[in-house]
Amino acid sequence: MITKKMTKERKIIITVDGYSSCGKSTFAKAIARELGYIYIDSGAMYRAVTLFALRRGLVAEGIADEKRILEILPEISITFRPDRETGYPVTYLNGEMVEREIRDREVSENVSPVSTIAGVRARLVELQRALSTGGGVVMDGRDIGTVVFPDAELKIFMTASPEVRAQRRYLELVSKGLPADFDAVMRNLSERDRIDSSREASPLRRAEDAVILDNSEMTPEEQMIWFRELYRRRMNES
Ligand code: C5P
Repeated sequence: MITKKMTKERKIIITVDGYSSCGKSTFAKAIARELGYIYIDSGAMYRAVTLFALRRGLVAEGIADEKRILEILPEISITFRPDRETGYPVTYLNGEMVEREIRDREVSENVSPVSTIAGVRARLVELQRALSTGGGVVMDGRDIGTVVFPDAELKIFMTASPEVRAQRRYLELVSKGLPADFDAVMRNLSERDRIDSSREASPLRRAEDAVILDNSEMTPEEQMIWFRELYRRRMNES
């Protein structure tokens, strides 16, 4: 049981890293809701920069113009505002609501090359830290437990089988009315995982002190039962 006293007494930082489409954001949002924490989607920031670069013609077919993207970075402002209905944060790029556009296929296919640019990462890491002062934050991404918050009190590394992940992503696109093709989704996921894990700047890897959650065979409710136990133990330990 998570008691009110536990969540009030000490607000911590919880990091959720892992492969593409493991259900990180669904899980991180559920944790944030349960604890009354802020949820921050770091992937949305990389996606917003990618959308901006796409509109300027600075990335296409997985090839990014690193020099020009670094030049236009100061023109980009990324903010989050709570959705009126769900309360979850919605992404704004220079004041324009882009939550839907940043999930499009074109962005998904170009986001990993943009995310390999060290200068882009440095800028977004700065923003991620600035949004999290004071704790009470759940942030999901690829390098949150390793680079952004290496001292976070609770780190989770999520994984699931590639088939399960592709199926979930496919169903998510269908439910949003976006064009979806299972094989293309599968290819995009494995390509993103490959680039994210092998890049030089902050590659995707499990922090040594992160707890692994393989949710291939778990329902969202089972994941929450798992999390409550982990959180309770961690808060009682320290
Ligand atoms: O989490 P999501 O799948 O929306 O992230 C999109 C892409 O953004 C990832 O494939 C990865 O290339 C990049 N990303 C990253 N570091 C993060 C979060 C996302 O490089 N912390």
